[in-house]
Amino acid sequence: EQPKEFLLSIEGLSVSFDGFKAVNDLSLYVEENEIRVIIGPNGAGKTTVLDLICGRTRATEGSIRFRGKELTKLREHEIVHAGVGRKFQNPSIYEDLTVFENLELSFPRGRSVLGALTFRRDAEVINRVEEIAEMIFLKDHLETDAAILSHGQKQWLEIGMLLIQSPELLMLDEPVAGMSVSERLKTAELLNTIIKKHSVIVIEHDMKFVEDIAHRVTVLHQGKVLSEGSMERVQSDPKVIEVYLGH
Ligand code: ADP
Repeated sequence: EQPKEFLLSIEGLSVSFDGFKAVNDLSLYVEENEIRVIIGPNGAGKTTVLDLICGRTRATEGSIRFRGKELTKLREHEIVHAGVGRKFQNPSIYEDLTVFENLELSFPRGRSVLGALTFRRDAEVINRVEEIAEMIFLKDHLETDAAILSHGQKQWLEIGMLLIQSPELLMLDEPVAGMSVSERLKTAELLNTIIKKHSVIVIEHDMKFVEDIAHRVTVLHQGKVLSEGSMERVQSDPKVIEVYLGH
């Protein structure tokens, strides 16, 4: 029998900062079309894990394989080209441009200078921008300046700017922080659309949102996996209860 192929396989991953092991012999496997949520107390190593995957931080030990390709030796832009997109907590949209222009600018144009210079607003780009705008609930705001969007709409726009690059794996750091309840629900809807074509790793503190989206939850503590499984399972795990209520 064939062993199962994971989209992302992390094995024995560690990183130390001045002798402190922020991530300590971590193993994590993510399947295709999965929404994996990483939770854990502050300082557990959640952000560092995403930093390691996207090449912002170099691992001291271990491997990160994505579609069979080793990522730990690649540079950040090479990891992006391999199909890994990362959204940070603060939106990095262009406030002076419209929604359309923000999405258009993120459309992959090939890597050559000539490709970038000869870029035209052709039908392919327009169709793709409209398709993404619909997914992120901004179809009626294509000509709106990004500056006047709500906080939630700005977060969606940034997700759209990643989606238009068609990453296979999307990593989101607290996507619903600061959102209203209705924006949070729509974000859950968006993620459930996204995973038909992509896989998603989300760091999240909002447990209602986690319940709405998580296929599987990984609880990190002191740079290690403390517990993993369905939301119900990790919530009733005595080790998890201890960590969350024990201090
Ligand atoms: P979380 O996202 O779960 O709150 P982090 O991954 O941000 O946790 O941090 C894990 C630990 O690693 C923390 O103790 C943090 O202070 C430390 N850390 C993270 N990045 C660095 C860095 N660049 N230099 C030194 N220490 C760091």
